Amino acid sequence: MFRELINIVDGIGTLYGLKKHKESEEFHLFKAKYNNKDKCEADPKPICTKMRKGDAAGKDKFSCKNEDEARMECAREGRAVCGNCVIRLYTTYPD
Ligand SMILES: [Zn+2]
Repeated sequence: MFRELINIVDGIGTLYGLKKHKESEEFHLFKAKYNNKDKCEADPKPICTKMRKGDAAGKDKFSCKNEDEARMECAREGRAVCGNCVIRLYTTYPD
């Protein structure tokens, strides 16, 4: 319930998750939100749209982090993170 509220109160902003592609081993950034079971659920495709959620390998690097946290985590991973996803994380664009 509380998590749903967070999704609705968009002043807090978009949440993100980071998944690793099973073949390229590159990390891609997905928009994510909490579902009604309080679980973090990522969009079907990352913000660069270059992979599908089903192509992810292993455990998510992170899930449902806010924008600031996501930027810090991506900076920590460095070049392993898809450049297109990172650029979009730093660019304000309409949905
Ligand atoms: Zn990407």
